[in-house]
Amino acid sequence: MKNDIIFNLIQVHQRIENACRIAGRNPKEVQLLLATKTVPAEKIRIAIEAGETLMGENKMQELRDKNDVLKNLPAERHFIGHLQTNKIKDVLKYVTCIQSLDRINLADELHKQLQNQNRKLDVFVQVNTSYEGSKFGLAPEDVLSFIKKIKAYDTLNIKGLMTIGLLDVEKEKMLPSLRLLRTIREEIYSEGIEGLQDLKLSMGMSQDLELAIAEGSNMVRIGTSIFGNRFLGKEIWNENIAE
Ligand SMILES: *Cc1c(COP(=O)(O)O)cnc(C)c1O
Repeated sequence: MKNDIIFNLIQVHQRIENACRIAGRNPKEVQLLLATKTVPAEKIRIAIEAGETLMGENKMQELRDKNDVLKNLPAERHFIGHLQTNKIKDVLKYVTCIQSLDRINLADELHKQLQNQNRKLDVFVQVNTSYEGSKFGLAPEDVLSFIKKIKAYDTLNIKGLMTIGLLDVEKEKMLPSLRLLRTIREEIYSEGIEGLQDLKLSMGMSQDLELAIAEGSNMVRIGTSIFGNRFLGKEIWNENIAE
C-alpha cells in the first residue's frame, strides 16, 4: 500500500511536469492538492510523509474523523466540498481555506463567524463552468457581481476561482469548462479591481489534469490517480445525498 501511493505520487508529479513542459509553464506554478475524500487517514499520512503539503476534504465528518491522525502533520487542509451553513463552525476548526464558496448566504455566514473569531480565511469562488445540474457553484455569468459583493468582506481573502470540469473521455468535451474559468478570470482582471489582480485557478482532477494545466491551472486536485478508485458514484458531489 505504501509503495503504491508513493509510486502513484511520482507518476502524478511526472504528469504535472510533462504538462507544464508542453504548455511552456514552470511546474512551480502548479500546486498539487491531495483530494482525500473516503481515503483513510493512514493512507493520507503516507502521502504527507512523502512530502505532500496540501490536502482537501469534502465533508466535515471526514475532517473530524481523520483529525487525530492528521492534525500534527505538516499539511494544510482545504475544504473542497459543498458546505452547508450549519457546518461552517466545525469546518473552520480544521481548514485554512474554503474552495467551495458558491453563494452569498454562505459568504455572509462565514464573514460573521470569522469576525467573531477575529480571523481571516482564504477562499476560492466555485464556478459551475460545465453548467451541469448535478454540480454546485455559481453560474459563470454571476461570478463578477458575486466577487464584487464579497470583496467588501475583509475576513475573506479571495485567492481565486475553482471549478470541477466536465469529465468525459473526449478532450474536446472537457476543454470548454476549463477554458471558461480562465476567461472568467480575464473578465475580472479587466475590471481592474484592487486586490483582485492575482487570482489562482483551482482546476484539474485525475482525468483532466493535463488539459487543466494547458488552460492555466495553478492547483490540481487529485484523488483517484494517487489513492485508487473510490467505488462511489457521482453522488459524492452532493453532501445531502452522501451523508
Ligand atoms: C474528488 C474530488 C477531486 C479529485 O477527483 P479524482 O477524479 O479522484 O482525482 C477533485 N476535486 C473535488 C472537488 C473532488 O470532490
